Amino acid sequence: MWEETKKFIKQTGKKLGLDSGTIERITEPEMVHEFIIPLKRENGELQVFKAYRSQHNSLRGPYKGGIRFHPDVSKEEVMALSALMSIKCAVVNIPYGGGKGGVKVDPKKLSERELEALSRAYAAKIAPFIGQDKDIPAPDVNTNPTIMGWMHEEYEKIKGVKEPAAFTGKPVSRGGSKGRVEATGYGGVVVLEKILNLIKNSRHKSPNFKLNFPSGKKITVAVQGFGNVGYHFAKFAVEKGFKVIAVSDSKGAVLVKEGLDPDTTLECKNEKGTVAGCYCKGSVCDVRFGKTISKEALLELPVDILVPAALEGAINKQNMKKIKAKIIVEMANGPVTTEAYEYLSKKGVLIIPDVLANAGGVTVSYLEWVQGRQGFWWEKQEVLDKLEKIMQKASEEVWKYSLRHNTTLKEAAFLLAIERIAQNLV
Ligand code: NAD
Repeated sequence: MWEETKKFIKQTGKKLGLDSGTIERITEPEMVHEFIIPLKRENGELQVFKAYRSQHNSLRGPYKGGIRFHPDVSKEEVMALSALMSIKCAVVNIPYGGGKGGVKVDPKKLSERELEALSRAYAAKIAPFIGQDKDIPAPDVNTNPTIMGWMHEEYEKIKGVKEPAAFTGKPVSRGGSKGRVEATGYGGVVVLEKILNLIKNSRHKSPNFKLNFPSGKKITVAVQGFGNVGYHFAKFAVEKGFKVIAVSDSKGAVLVKEGLDPDTTLECKNEKGTVAGCYCKGSVCDVRFGKTISKEALLELPVDILVPAALEGAINKQNMKKIKAKIIVEMANGPVTTEAYEYLSKKGVLIIPDVLANAGGVTVSYLEWVQGRQGFWWEKQEVLDKLEKIMQKASEEVWKYSLRHNTTLKEAAFLLAIERIAQNLV
């Protein structure tokens, strides 16, 4: 992942005509902290976990990025993810560079008390290197507002200060932002609507994709992964007039041709433990409304828009030839592999890249940081309105770059971001 990320940044730098020193400066992380966390387990055993914090680039502002707890965490992975955060923050033009941290641990094997001790120990180790003007961590895979709350409290205890903007993704009661829960899904729908609008109203047709939606018909959507991001994407998409006909989770998928209701589907999923079997139209769930399909089949449905919102690499060499959607919105991080990206883009599929589509999360993190610094918190609608403006502007800028440079939206997003980062070099 690190090699691929480096290659893409370097290629983009060359396209922009940057010299090799500048490209190196923008590609390599400025600092990578590597350390161990010794943890006394409840059974008395001492266990040692590897941990990292990569601080990629601070040219545009303090480092920003999540902390993940996962057995696959490695130094190279956090380096790659921190570089992608530098790109993402520059795409939406928020004043940050990229950061990412992680602990190589399976948190499901820890008790609640052990998880809290590990989280506090991680915060204590990185405390000298972070802060509202240096590096602002947030949740990522397997970490959540409660964990951010523990880390934030530990950080403030060590530093002897009150610093609400030192962490984001905190519980609202500890200075978190309203609107953070729905931010990523909502941001994705805003980006999709804006891009569709630009396509419709653009005098310059992009040669890179061929879109043709029959007028008068609702645009159909399938969402892979009905978790936080997938559910909110589906919910706001339906509110904006799209027809969500299928959703999946790790256990299965459901197809409701006439369009499903995300709220009743979520209620049903919470009851059954899976969306499979949840044929919910309006406020009623009934077997006559739909059918259960496999989670693999969902990706191959003949829908207008496919939204991978679960895992990385979901659309890959094995299934890329079976994809029938005209647009893919990358709501997960890296759900379309490089090979599939090239194949589908050549076929004329429009892929809205993760560094734009799912940037709503980090954008509301930025708004949480602003609120923390000013000591004044906004209502949810105010946060979502600000988010909408930022996402619309970024979509338009990426779109314009793709026309100007005759490239895919992913390349355009990287061009825009790297140009913005390089502008800060003196
Ligand atoms: P989540 O854990 O709430 O949801 C993930 C969902 O994917 C679950 O419903 C799970 O059952 C489902 N899933 C897992 N494997 C699947 C499979 N093979 N097929 C279909 N469904 C499957 O996670 P989330 O917060 O919604 O994040 C989803 C993705 O979005 C991740 O890649 C994450 O990194 C990315 N992302 C999240 C945010 C955020 O704010 N939460 C921000 C940016 C990017």
